[in-house]
Amino acid sequence: VTAIETTILLGVIYGFLSITIGWLKQTIDTLLGREKELRNIAEEGEVRLTTILQQLPVGVMIVDAKDHKLTGNKHLEKVTGRKIKGRMRTDESYPSKYIYHNDKPVLQKDWPIARALTKGKTVTLQEMEYRREDKKRLFLRVNASPIKKDEEIIAAVSTFYDVTHEKELEQRKDDFVNMASHELKTPITSMKLYIDLLLKRVQHYEDQRALKAVRSIKLQTEKLQELVSDLLDVSRLQTGKLQFTKEPFSLTELLEETIEMLQETTKDHEIILQQAKDLTVIGDRFRIYQVVSNLVTNAIKYSSSGKEIIVRVEKEGEKAIVHIQDNGIGIPKEQRRKIFERLYQVTDPKEKTFPGIGMGLYIAKEIIKRHKGRIWVESEKGKGSKFSFTLPLKK
Ligand code: ADP
Repeated sequence: VTAIETTILLGVIYGFLSITIGWLKQTIDTLLGREKELRNIAEEGEVRLTTILQQLPVGVMIVDAKDHKLTGNKHLEKVTGRKIKGRMRTDESYPSKYIYHNDKPVLQKDWPIARALTKGKTVTLQEMEYRREDKKRLFLRVNASPIKKDEEIIAAVSTFYDVTHEKELEQRKDDFVNMASHELKTPITSMKLYIDLLLKRVQHYEDQRALKAVRSIKLQTEKLQELVSDLLDVSRLQTGKLQFTKEPFSLTELLEETIEMLQETTKDHEIILQQAKDLTVIGDRFRIYQVVSNLVTNAIKYSSSGKEIIVRVEKEGEKAIVHIQDNGIGIPKEQRRKIFERLYQVTDPKEKTFPGIGMGLYIAKEIIKRHKGRIWVESEKGKGSKFSFTLPLKK
């Protein structure tokens, strides 16, 4: 090979190499540029997410599954009056310094966020009392939920709403109901006494018009008395002051008496009692009477005339079950749970025409709950409802 040929060959190789290097450099530059761009986007996304989280008008707390590190947003720090930092306790019996329930500190295993993280539980709308270091007391409504990646829990998030103001308003409303019902009770009792006296006198004079008027006043006063007594029960239930005596009594007799009495109030319905022989239950006879009377009165109220109401009693293991079935207007599915809440009434304008203020079922539910029983409803809109409750049988 001549020197000239070598020079040409070297020149070609050099040219080829420089083109390749140039191309490689360009490719690497583009790739690096792309990576930087992606990193910027990711960082920007993260910054945006953190900013949003920080500024959300609701308290947020996040705990990491690996190191139990806690992060809280600004709102949470403002509400709780402290910095959220450090790690979450892992000892299940560790009592919280801040959250209380019924005056007792809540143990770690019951903290919504701990339940979400270790048990994978979703906690919704749990109310908790929060005691700040400056002694201020708050009511928080807490939600918590696990965060999963490929079925594995990697963190848990909890949200906190300050509902102290709502709670205070509710308390004031309860205090008002309590006070008003107490104030109303005394004058109504004395009115009732005088009406009875008046009735006796009017009966003596045989004045039919006056007699009708006084009877009507008596009936309305009794209604008023029942309403006030329901109001009082509601406020006593709220404050845990409703007294219960527990003793054995015949459910069979109680149902016979109640139904006989309620049958007198309606000519349009036939109340039929189907019962198992002589069941003796344990409980407060008067309060159980209240429950039966309320359910049967509702069955009458919410079913058009001329229909049967069936009261059936069964024995199931160590429990008695009472069913009260009507063929009335029924209850839409979405309302069935809510009707047992305080002051709840179905809002259908058609149904709004029935008198009442939505206390009966709440009182019934609370009474049954305190007898360790269960109360529920099965219903079909337009076809009727069946309310059932259980009571413990005497052993
Ligand atoms: P009230 O009858 O005073 O409104 P309750 O607490 O007894 O209050 O009942 C709550 C609501 O549940 C009622 O307003 C009514 O809409 C519904 N409800 C109760 N019993 C029945 C029933 N047997 N059939 C249909 N709806 C009923």
